[in-house]
Amino acid sequence: MDAEEAARLRELLKARLDARLAQGPQSVAREDVDTSATAHDDDLGPHMQMDQAIASGRNAAWTAETIALAAALRRLDDEPDSFGDCEDCGEPIPFRRLELLPHATLCVRCQAAQETGPARRRKVTDYV
Ligand SMILES: [Zn+2]
Repeated sequence: MDAEEAARLRELLKARLDARLAQGPQSVAREDVDTSATAHDDDLGPHMQMDQAIASGRNAAWTAETIALAAALRRLDDEPDSFGDCEDCGEPIPFRRLELLPHATLCVRCQAAQETGPARRRKVTDYV
């Protein structure tokens, strides 16, 4: 990766991180609920729990991505030479992938392998 690409990624990472920090985690506020609906009080309990579960799931994703962006920015500053190399196979991650996902640490192939588990060809009999 050349200096120009590194600078571009630094810009992208900073912008995304700033946007995330400005936005903050999702709150559990119930602004989206139609209060004119004739919901019984009994129905509200489970609904609240579901909202909180969804919000906490979003917060976990928000936190994970924020940490990943901050970590990528630090890697870019600390190890500019190896930044953008796949952590698994060591091959350079294509710049276009990094532009879309500047905190990516794996190339598409290794990412796919990690998401689907060990490479294994599925047979029809696997589904029977
Ligand atoms: Zn790889």
